[in-house]
Amino acid sequence: MQGHYNLNTNPENVRLSLEKFASLGVEVGVTELDITAGSNSEQTEEEMQQQAYLYARLFEIYKDNHEHVSRVTFWGLDDATSWRSDQSPLLFDRNMQAKPAYYAVIDPEGFIESFEVEETEVRQGEAAYGTPVMLEGEIDEIWETAPILPIDRFQQAHNLTTGEARVLWDDEYLYVLVEVNDSELDKSASAAHEQDSVEVFIDEQNTKADGYGEGHGQYRVNFDNEASFNPGSVGEGFESRTIVDGTYYVVEMRIPFRTTTLEAGNKVGFDVQINDASNGSRDGVTIWNDFTGAGFQSPAVFGELTLLQEETEVPGDIITDLEEQIRDLTERLEDLENLLAEERTELEQRIADLRAELAELQAGEEELLDLVADLLARLEALEDRVTELEEAEDVEDPEDSEDPVNGEDPAGEDADGENSQ
Ligand code: CA
Repeated sequence: MQGHYNLNTNPENVRLSLEKFASLGVEVGVTELDITAGSNSEQTEEEMQQQAYLYARLFEIYKDNHEHVSRVTFWGLDDATSWRSDQSPLLFDRNMQAKPAYYAVIDPEGFIESFEVEETEVRQGEAAYGTPVMLEGEIDEIWETAPILPIDRFQQAHNLTTGEARVLWDDEYLYVLVEVNDSELDKSASAAHEQDSVEVFIDEQNTKADGYGEGHGQYRVNFDNEASFNPGSVGEGFESRTIVDGTYYVVEMRIPFRTTTLEAGNKVGFDVQINDASNGSRDGVTIWNDFTGAGFQSPAVFGELTLLQEETEVPGDIITDLEEQIRDLTERLEDLENLLAEERTELEQRIADLRAELAELQAGEEELLDLVADLLARLEALEDRVTELEEAEDVEDPEDSEDPVNGEDPAGEDADGENSQ
């Protein structure tokens, strides 16, 4: 048994596996034993104690089965040189000092006796408010507002595929998005739960009942978007889709509630698991809350999900962005106004020049009188038009200021360009 464990390993599952091997009459070698706890080469006192307790539980099991266990090999000597050094998995620390785990291994019974086991609380998660759009081949951005539920508890002694789930809710449905990093996708088993798939467990009113009844359901979707249900009736109104990219896949579910409405503050009994299959059978189960594997028959083992309030606050970065846009548009409007004023002055100047030229002509050339009268009329019309424009501009000023807001950026720049020519 290649013993790379972590704080989510349930020692009772290790016992079951070991006893299964032992029942075959074979010799069991425990190889590569280590227990990861902590990250970034750091370990809290609590993580150190939990790690020691798990070592003690394992050695209690090895001792109980000593006639079948030929050896236990640690995968390294100290945390500094471990292959998983970041997660401090061994009995000796970076300075070769004995950790609590060391004392747990040399006297498992004594350690277990003195260790205070905290009440196991069911895992708590949160669902954000919102309605995702099931876009073809895409994950709706709204999912980013939902907190991540890590699917990292193993129901077997060995650790396989992990993943992440997120949950949204609205007035009608609970939505679950699960991302799975598998190493080989397989649905060749005839039993649905033996295929690579994702399961969601719901206890609508968080009854924690020992058996399934009204408001309880198990929803399973494999990577090929084939759904199955327990009981079958909960499939009504259910929808799902999947995205597959290599051996990474996403399952998105829309689950209707039957016995109660969804409201902020409600607690829902909830769990989500990944079935990891290869070569026609299930090799592993990874789950958010339950270690026992009894979720298909008992809502009592589910975790709890709280439905969060609708988010009403506008995030700060959106405000900043809007402020910047308004500042930019204001500047461009001012540029435009300056440009218009310049153009008008230039027009007025040209009209004045023309008038002066005409006055000269009028004085000198009698035969040109008709022609000059016509030109004068046209010039007056031009003057009127400029005056009209001025008045119109004065009147329309408030509306003008909105134009750039409605216009697209490229169009606005084009307009600027034309005006300046
Ligand atoms: Ca698989």
